[in-house]
Amino acid sequence: MNKIVSRFAPSPTGYLHIGGARTALFSWLLARASGGEFRLRIEDTDRARSSQEATNAIIDSMKWLGLEHDGEIVFQSDNADRHNAVIDQLIETGHAYYCECSKEAVDAMREKAMKERRKPKYDGSCRESGLKSGVVRFKTPLEGTTAFKDMVKGPIAVENTELDDMILRRADGSPTYNLAVVVDDHDMGVNNVMRGDDHVNNTPRQILIYRAMGWDVPEFGHVPMILGPDKKKLSKRHGALSVMEYEKMGYLPEAVTNYLARLGWSHGDQELFTMDEMVELFSTDNLGNSPSVFDLTKFEWVNGQYMQRADPERLAGMLCDFLTREVGEEEAKSVSKSDFAKIAPLLQPRAKSIVDMLEQSRPFIVDAGFLPYDEAAVKKFLTDETKPLLEDIASRIEALDEYSEQTLEDLHRQFLEDKDIKFKVIAQPIRVAIVGATKSPGLFETMMVLGKTQTLARLKRAIEL
Ligand code: GLU
Repeated sequence: MNKIVSRFAPSPTGYLHIGGARTALFSWLLARASGGEFRLRIEDTDRARSSQEATNAIIDSMKWLGLEHDGEIVFQSDNADRHNAVIDQLIETGHAYYCECSKEAVDAMREKAMKERRKPKYDGSCRESGLKSGVVRFKTPLEGTTAFKDMVKGPIAVENTELDDMILRRADGSPTYNLAVVVDDHDMGVNNVMRGDDHVNNTPRQILIYRAMGWDVPEFGHVPMILGPDKKKLSKRHGALSVMEYEKMGYLPEAVTNYLARLGWSHGDQELFTMDEMVELFSTDNLGNSPSVFDLTKFEWVNGQYMQRADPERLAGMLCDFLTREVGEEEAKSVSKSDFAKIAPLLQPRAKSIVDMLEQSRPFIVDAGFLPYDEAAVKKFLTDETKPLLEDIASRIEALDEYSEQTLEDLHRQFLEDKDIKFKVIAQPIRVAIVGATKSPGLFETMMVLGKTQTLARLKRAIEL
């Protein structure tokens, strides 16, 4: 078998959305699973609707998701001369013709001929008129069927009489999508075209162009849409966001690719796949043919799984970046990556995203004097009754020679025994004192991450409150 060369060919008319990203992922997996090549082509021929910003966003998104491409990025607009040369060749070989009729007139002509069950003679029509200007149309065969076996949808066949004489070159001289996509895919050596199923009706037309040029026809696979939970087109509210918005919300790229792959592809009951596993296991045989429903809750679960498994050092780096984005470089300097690396393991079991983790790490990274308190928690737990208990604890901690999780635990056990009270009497007051709220990771772990000085400073500030 030939080496698979697949591609992703987005139009830079908007950001890369989650649906487009999934198409790119499947195409990438197709290539990687077979040790083939994955190419990226920016289809920027619609000058009015394309933008550099959108192009950059596509490239950034692909990079962030880890869908690296082989070779140079191809910009379709660079190939206009080549597209026109192919159109000229199709005219010369009798597969295309100039036409001055409106689309309606051409359709009516074809329909009339079909009805009369005759080959249209096109008397006076453009097909055989030898006109030298106008749009250029493809001479669609008047009989026969164009069939292909879709990698996702199975066999598809269309009667050629159902296809119109598509325009290859507009009156302004610009080549159309159907022509350009065929020429570029051929020239880039693409032999596997994976794309959204909004293109399935274009495929027979494109196959006819391949045949007219005497080129090998690639394999095609059309991936169904992603729908919202209401079974309608995925809306923003339900997750139809750009890939970079997921990045900004602090989700991990491997969670996005894992979740997207599972939307439409399966391998038994397995839910979590590393990129390497997906590459190893991917096959188009397991691609589903019905639209999948985007489930934000499930996605967040997947992300949580990856948050738990992630290397704390990596999370620490991301936390630094996110803090810098939020407060600027100068202020972010007050917290080091190694501070975050200590905090991350504590928060990993519960954090939903990097943004959430940064939020949860706030009590750890501010100096005692700036610790924000949850008012209600303060009222409830920092009372006249708990004050002497906190004072006692603080002086015992101060007196500790060795500050460790073990000595802290022993200290508290002794304290409870001396006072003859239960841990729960003191647990929440301490928690509110050291992190300002009633929720935190384990108390002693938290004290360890804070360190002796911060822990004491916080207890003292709480006592003063
Ligand atoms: N540029 C087309 C689009 O963004 C895709 C073309 C293709 O994959 O064949 O819809």
